[in-house]
Parts: sequence; C-alpha cells; structure tokens
Amino acid sequence: MRVRIRGIPLWAWAAAAALYFGVAAAAVEFAWNRAIDALAEVGAHRLDLYAASLKSELGRFEMMPAIVARQDSVRAMLGAGSRASPDLVREVDTYLEAVNNDAGSLAVDVIDLQGEVIAASNWNQSLSFVGTNVSYRPYFKDALAHGTGRFFGIGTNTGMPGLYFASAVRDAGKPIGAAAVKLSVDALEAAWRAPGEAAMVIDSNGVIVISTVPAWKFTALRPITAQQQRDIQASRQYAGRNVDVLAYRRVDDWNGSAWLGRFPDWRRAGRSTQFLVMSRPAPQAGDSMMVLLDVAGARRQQQLALAFVTAAFVIAGLYALYAAQRRRAIAEKLKAQDALRIANDRLEMTVAQRTAALTATNERMHQEIVERKRTEQRLRDTQQEVVHAGKLAVLGQMAAGLTHELNQPLVAIRTLCDNARTFFERNQPAQAVANLERVAKLVDSMAVLTGELKAFARKPDVERVAVSLAEAVAHARLIYEARIRDEGVQLDVDIPAGSTVWAESSQLQQVIVNLLGNALDAVHDEHRRIIRIHAAEPDARDRVLFTITDSGPGIAPEVLAHLFEPFVTTKPRGQGLGLGLAITSRIVEGFGAKISAANRTDSGTDSGERNGAQFTIEFAAAMSQRVVHGR
Ligand code: ADP
Repeated sequence: MRVRIRGIPLWAWAAAAALYFGVAAAAVEFAWNRAIDALAEVGAHRLDLYAASLKSELGRFEMMPAIVARQDSVRAMLGAGSRASPDLVREVDTYLEAVNNDAGSLAVDVIDLQGEVIAASNWNQSLSFVGTNVSYRPYFKDALAHGTGRFFGIGTNTGMPGLYFASAVRDAGKPIGAAAVKLSVDALEAAWRAPGEAAMVIDSNGVIVISTVPAWKFTALRPITAQQQRDIQASRQYAGRNVDVLAYRRVDDWNGSAWLGRFPDWRRAGRSTQFLVMSRPAPQAGDSMMVLLDVAGARRQQQLALAFVTAAFVIAGLYALYAAQRRRAIAEKLKAQDALRIANDRLEMTVAQRTAALTATNERMHQEIVERKRTEQRLRDTQQEVVHAGKLAVLGQMAAGLTHELNQPLVAIRTLCDNARTFFERNQPAQAVANLERVAKLVDSMAVLTGELKAFARKPDVERVAVSLAEAVAHARLIYEARIRDEGVQLDVDIPAGSTVWAESSQLQQVIVNLLGNALDAVHDEHRRIIRIHAAEPDARDRVLFTITDSGPGIAPEVLAHLFEPFVTTKPRGQGLGLGLAITSRIVEGFGAKISAANRTDSGTDSGERNGAQFTIEFAAAMSQRVVHGR
C-alpha cells in the first residue's frame, strides 16, 4: 500500500527530509569553514600587529645592557671589584638612574661575577636591587656564558613581573660582570587588550607571562614536569609561586597554525567558550605568542546558513504542497470531466437507441394509421352501401304497404273516371268536372307518396343542418299512414313547436321510419296498440331527448345486448333482415347523436301499459332560425 501524506508519497517526504538534513549539514559546515577561515585571517593579522608591537616595544631596550656594559665607569667599577671607591659606585648608580629614566625601563643594574648587584638605578630607593644576589637567575648565567641573557620573571625584591635583558661586561674579552635591564609589559598588555580577544606571550616553560587576561598570567598551557618545577623554583622565576595548568581543552585542529579550543570565559565567570587559537614564535619576549578569537561570529554564520536553508526548504515544501494540491485538483477535475463525458456518451447512446425505437414505433404507427385509414375508408364505403341496402330493404318491406296505398286511389280514380265518362254521356258536365277534380286530388296525394319514396331512396347527404323534428316525424307518419289507420294504432306525437336538431333531413326521416316501423311491428299482436313519440325541450347541455315508446312485448332479452348489430332479428324470414337498427345507429352517430334502447318495466302514468320498448335518441339541439324541411 502506498502511504501518502497531503497527497505526497512517504518516500518523497523521506527523500525531502534526507535532502534537507544533507543540505543543512553542508551549508552549516560551509558557513563554519568560511567564518573560521575569515577569523583565522583576522587572527593572523592580529599576530602580525602584536609581533610588530613587541618588536618595537622591546627592541628599544634590547641594546641597552650592551651599551651600559661599554660604559667606562661600569667597567672600572667591576674591574676594581670590592676595591671600587664609593664615589665610583655612586657615579655608576647615578649613571644607571639617568639611563633608566631616559629609557623608561623599570630598572637598570650592574652585577659582579658572583651575581651580586653592586650598582642599580634604584640605588636610593627602599626596594633597591643593590646587594641582591641574582646568580640563580638564568639571564645572568646566560649573559656570562653566551654574552646575552633574556628572561621573564617576577622581581624578588619588588614582586613586579618584568622582562630582563642582560649583557656581559667584558674587559680584554673576558667577562667581569653583567649589566641588566628590567622592563614592564603593562603597556603592551594594555595596548593588546581588544574586545572578545585574548592575546598572550608564553615562555619556554609553556607558562603565560604576558596576557591581556590577568587571571591567566603565570598559568601553564601544558603540564609542568617535575624537573621544570625544580628549575622554576631554583630560578625563583615566578617568585616562588606554584604554577597551575590553565583549564582548557583542545577541541579540534584547524590548520598548521590554528586550532579550536574551549577556554574559561574571562568575560563571563564560570562559563567556558570556544575560541580559535593561533600562535607564532616570539623570540623577543619568550617562546611564542598566542591569540584567542571568539567563534561566536562563526556560530552566528552557521545559524544564519541553517535558517536560510530551512527557510528555502520551507518555501520549496510549501510550493511542493501547493503544486501537489493543484495537481490533485486538476486530476479530480479531469476525472469528473471524464465521468461526465462517459455519462454523456451513455446518455447519447440511450437517446439514440430510444430514438431508433421511437422512430421504428412511429413508423409502425404510421403504417397502422395508413392501414386504419384504409380500413376506415373501406368501412365507410361498406356502411354507405349497407345504409343504402338497408333503405332498399325498407323499401321492399314497404312495397306491400305502398301497393295498398296506391291501389286504393287507383281504384277510386278508375271509378271516378268511369263515372265521369257516364256523366259526359248523360250530358251532365258539372258532375263530370267534380269527379275529375277529385281525381286530380287523388293523383296529387299519390305524387306526394312517390316523392317520399324518391327522397328515401336517395344516397344520404352528409352535410348536417338544423332539421325540424316535427316535420321528420310527420313524413314518417305519412309513410305508415295506411297501416296505422288499418291496424287501429294509437299514435301520440308530442313535439314542441320549432324543435330543431343537427341532422340530415332524409336520414333523420329514415331513422324515424325505421323506429316507427319496428314499433308498429311490436304492437301488431297486442290488444292495445299505442305508440308515443315525444321530444323534450333542449336541456342545459343543449341536448334534445327524443323517444319512441310502444306498448309491445318489449325487446327480447337475447336481442337486447346485440340490438344495434347488423342481421340481428327475431322476425320470420322475408319480414326482417336485422339491418334497420344497425343502419339507424350508424346514421345517428353520423349526426353526433346517441341512440339507446330499453324495456320499460314500470307503468306509464296515464295509459296503464306495463311493458314495451323505448328507444331514446339524444340529439344536439340546433338553432331554430335555419330550419330545413325534410324534403
Ligand atoms: P328487423 O326489423 O328487420 O328484424 P331491426 O334491426 O329493425 O331488424 O330489429 C331487430 C330486432 O329488434 C327485431 O327483430 C326485434 O326483435 C327487435 N325490436 C326492434 N324494435 C322493437 C320494438 N319496438 N319492440 C320489440 N322488439 C323490437
């Protein structure tokens, strides 16, 4: 499993940390090296300065003992030894006093071969050197042995530290004594004192003899051997003091002339500090001189470098985090876009599939519509034919009634014509004319009858107009006039005056003829033959309810459910085709009206009949203004 922190893998964090530590260590090292190198340069410069000041400060006194040794009075005094006159000694004393005053040294004295000071610049002071024996002092021994001597020591009389230069006094090449000068190093120490630095001179014993740090004076930098300790005590070099070793620690070598060491810090008591230590030989004053330079500045450089590297890493780290976050955000955005694109593609595919399915369905539906239309057209054609056939069938049925209807006037016309001829032959023209007028009337009524038949047989006019219900009923009644009369049927018509409905005149007549014909058939075998035709006033929905009720046996139950289907009949062969109601219902639908049939079970209010069928047509009421008469 790959562990990530803030979107960055763990190994990257580890690598960054390793890089940081590496770079920080290198930067710190580099800063340290540079700073210490710079410090070493400063140290070298300082040492140059100190060496120069040593040379100039001490050089003034170096030749003094040799000059004193050449003084005639000095040589005379030494040559005379114990026989020297007090005046001569006084002369030498005053000479030495004058020289000491002029040169600014601590003291100048003359020593005999036994090491006794016989004349001194401080001859007249309480702490005079005169009479002191310095035979144990190395500078005296060296002067007698090698001509010159040099020594740092603390005065046995004065207790003051100082540098001694000595020179042999010779007579005819043989030493007869020595001249010595003691000088103070206070001025040097004061001049060398600089902040944060310690400068010192170390003698051949490794003991600090000149130091800008007073506490370190007469402490040793290296352990003192037993022999050295004995020599020191013998020469009373440090006035009998015990020489301690300075508590310092060498930490590291820097280069040939410098090293790093931890020393007690003279500026802060009880603390130790690291210094860069540099030294070089200093033959004028002792063995070597040394300078200690505080490395605090170098430490600060290190800290600065570390801070710089840390800051750089923090900035780089923040940038890396920012970049990682940005990369993550972009990746997420791309992912979201991809997801969106895929979803979109899927959606488009689905849409394409659905569209194809819809197109196919649409195509199918279109074909079905075409097919339906074709079927509908065929049906309509068939319906027209059936309606027409139905009319013809009704015509056929009516033929018998019509024959009777026409035969009667024809017989009457025949008789009237025969009578008219007889009246003419008897020369009674008035009676003959009266007969002919009756004949004319009969012919007129026959013409009306045939006109009805013509209108009935005509193919329907499909345009709907406002048709008077009362007139349509009157036409139907006329057709069945003879039957109604002959069979003694009571026909009650109750239609409000001016009642008009949306229909087609000849078709409406056909509908009423059909229904009235059925009703006449139904009441034929009944004792009471009543047919009632009724129309109501238009209701709130502009509907006109038109009913034909008979006192017949009612519609047979097995017929009722299929009443308006073609070829449904209960009548004997030759009397009914079962087309009448089928045609009627199609025509009624064509008007936008509705036909229904039911058997009456309860009694009528006034007639008392209990059974019988009732046909109801729900017409759309028309405006009474445009009445079209049914012809
Ligand atoms: P058809 O008169 O040739 O039989 P119709 O379609 O006019 O054809 O009538 C179908 C059948 O409906 C009739 O045979 C008859 O049984 C029944 N019918 C129609 N009108 C009435 C009515 N007023 N009373 C009883 N039965 C009726």
